Amino acid sequence: MATILPPAVLGMLGGGQLGRFFVAAAHEMGYLVWVLDPDPNSPAGRLADRHLVAAYDDYAALDQIAAECAAVSTEFENVPAEALEYLAKFVPVRPSSKAVAVCQNRIAEKTFMHEHAIPHGPFAVIRGDDDVAAADHGLFPAVLKVARFGYDGKGQARVANHDEALHAFHEFGGEPCVLEKLLTLDCELSVVLARDAEGRIRAFAPGENRHRRGILDVTIVPARGGRQLRLEAEKAAERIAQALDYVGTLGVEFFVSEGELFANEMAPRPHNSGHHTIDACVTSQYEQQVRALTGLPLGEPRMHSHAVMVNLLGELWFDGGDHHRSQREPDWSVVHREPGARLHLYGKHHARQGRKMGHFTVIGEDADAVLEAALRARAALGIADDDH
Ligand code: ADP
Ligand code: MG
Repeated sequence: MATILPPAVLGMLGGGQLGRFFVAAAHEMGYLVWVLDPDPNSPAGRLADRHLVAAYDDYAALDQIAAECAAVSTEFENVPAEALEYLAKFVPVRPSSKAVAVCQNRIAEKTFMHEHAIPHGPFAVIRGDDDVAAADHGLFPAVLKVARFGYDGKGQARVANHDEALHAFHEFGGEPCVLEKLLTLDCELSVVLARDAEGRIRAFAPGENRHRRGILDVTIVPARGGRQLRLEAEKAAERIAQALDYVGTLGVEFFVSEGELFANEMAPRPHNSGHHTIDACVTSQYEQQVRALTGLPLGEPRMHSHAVMVNLLGELWFDGGDHHRSQREPDWSVVHREPGARLHLYGKHHARQGRKMGHFTVIGEDADAVLEAALRARAALGIADDDH
């Protein structure tokens, strides 16, 4: 495929914050971007050159994209793989529908890891009551996760035994699920990388992720702890990208349990834990997505600073988390006064519990000072430290 140069139009399926940063990166590089997202107020749609407000399986909208865009990518793993497959008949689509299909179904994803000898935790596929009954006792305590459309801890239940697993399976409407052994976590890591159409891979430094109530809260980069584990995570992520013949930016989440590395899940798009690359790396994960999509050489992923990213969730817009009160804007001065802090707000009008409204990244030369400053600003905003 010939390199796609500006001012070509790029298509983006999905209008969330990951798409918004893609639009910003593409604009910087001289491209135009059309976004498809059914939400008229979608964060990326509001920056896009054209926002098609339509469903992802609206073939009239897909035909318009096929006619006008030079290449298409996605920022949302639940875009129907069929839509990507349809577009691929007319324009380059990166990542491919096949790669996205594996990442958007936990059964396909875990089976893929198993087949490609990517280290992963013990799990069972649950399609019916019999599968629950047949699940190994050693899996409990476990987490039951619906195979499709789960995110930010949604569609997941912690279960202590077979009875609870059966109950949760019925609560999820008998949808296909995976039942995973609940691992004791030393920490969580993620690797974001970019792979081009010739198979060249550039990985960003692994990040260390802290979650709160099932949602990413803080990412510390580079991850602290063993160098060996970071290398292993990078290697595993690279093997996944190769086996998927992946083209674009890919995020892979890992658990570290009792000193051992286990792959958790893949995201066929830039990843929340890669937001810091905007402020702390020579090339951001979003620019890499543009480069992989257009056939430009991948950029340099090297970090020029240490970084800590803090997610800003919807509850911050309500006093003391009290949703009966009206929405108010948090006092951003506490972020802006930290040297090296950069605030990013996504332009979402309505705050909701758990909704990702923005983030800030603190960068600097000293890892400890950066972490201290980020946690200071986080506490000053009123984000509680419970339930890590
Ligand atoms: P998603 O990010 O799509 O909501 P994940 O599978 O990444 O789903 O789960 C969200 C978080 O829940 C993980 O980052 C981790 O903190 C916790 N978690 C999920 N599965 C397990 C497991 N098998 N063992 C221990 N913790 C888990
Ligand atoms: Mg996850």
